[in-house]
Amino acid sequence: MAAEPGVAQLTGLDESHLVAVGDGQRLREEVAAAFTALRDDARRAGFELAIASGFRSYHRQLAIWNAKATGARAVHDDAGRVLDLARLTPTRRLHAMLRFSAIPGTSRHHWGTDLDVYDAAALPTGYALQLSPREVAAGGMFDPLHRWLDQRMAADRSHGFFRPYHRDCGGVAPERWHLSYAPLAVRYAALLDRAMLIRCWDCAPAGASLQLRAQIERELAQLMERYVAVPDGWCPSHGWA
Ligand SMILES: [Zn+2]
Repeated sequence: MAAEPGVAQLTGLDESHLVAVGDGQRLREEVAAAFTALRDDARRAGFELAIASGFRSYHRQLAIWNAKATGARAVHDDAGRVLDLARLTPTRRLHAMLRFSAIPGTSRHHWGTDLDVYDAAALPTGYALQLSPREVAAGGMFDPLHRWLDQRMAADRSHGFFRPYHRDCGGVAPERWHLSYAPLAVRYAALLDRAMLIRCWDCAPAGASLQLRAQIERELAQLMERYVAVPDGWCPSHGWA
């Protein structure tokens, strides 16, 4: 078994181990190979499996998070309405942000095992991809791809990819487009803990401080439980833990 990744690889601070998979996206090498196999299968079924977002660095997630925390970038509710964060209590503000954005250092996209996908063959000309619930819902443009993926996952023929955010458990909003390479991601999820996150936030360069950090640290145990942990049974158990 390869050496377990350390704090820098689990929190998106290190990018040196990633490989390109097209679409300007990067994944870990083992994940890229599995994705290529899944993409080949999808092509034979008439789909053009493409990646909207693969690896995301700590700094990219930090920029998104800080822009939302300071109001430079909109935060939406479940119905897509823009929220006025200044009118929410600090706790409600944090939960509103976490519904759609991970705390920097905790995103599964840092691991190089997780990716957001769509069917490039189903994308209408001139349409700007949104990765919205409507696109992947029954009748949506990517529903046929996702139904094909569902069948593959149910038959355990999805090359290790499963959906950690398939159901709404009151934490992260459902994301049918988000796939995770379980043979590695199950282990990585178990490695990530408070001490690792504190080290990550401490070692980020000056000028890149995490907004709302004090509040996040105070509530970290509950936040990890609700927004970072995913339900047991999101993937079959093949001794990947
Ligand atoms: Zn995602």
